[in-house]
Amino acid sequence: MSDNWIRIIPTTPTWAPQIPNAETATAYVRSLFTGPTASADDVTHSIHAGVAFIDSGVNTSSVTCSACGKVTDVAWVFDIIDERAEDLSQLDAAMPCCGASANLNDLNYDWPMAFARFEIEVMNGTRDGYELDVTELDHVGSLLGHSVRQVLQHI
Ligand SMILES: [Zn+2]
Repeated sequence: MSDNWIRIIPTTPTWAPQIPNAETATAYVRSLFTGPTASADDVTHSIHAGVAFIDSGVNTSSVTCSACGKVTDVAWVFDIIDERAEDLSQLDAAMPCCGASANLNDLNYDWPMAFARFEIEVMNGTRDGYELDVTELDHVGSLLGHSVRQVLQHI
């Protein structure tokens, strides 16, 4: 058995919405997964105490450096996450390939993963197209008051 999650997060890791806005946006996402050909096991939202790692599960394996173009295994990123587990608000790092400074939230991963204080989570959603499209993400962002993106997690 495995589970698939769509994790919708603000583009700024430290940002979190007001509770009423979070509830309105979550209700909108829930409506996208409700109907004759759409469903989800659960649609909820979480506000974390601090910046949390928004993991993609088994999907992410490598990262491409935007400075030198070299592809490295993603393990070094996980090492930094472990080292900073107490406080992930600081996400700057030096790339192992060439030493260029980068932000772990903005790296070019082969399968997106990110960092956030807030997320709307869709568990085992089914519908045409599965993930949210650009228009739907824009609408979630306008309800929350901040632009969002999504991380697709498979565990
Ligand atoms: Zn590099």
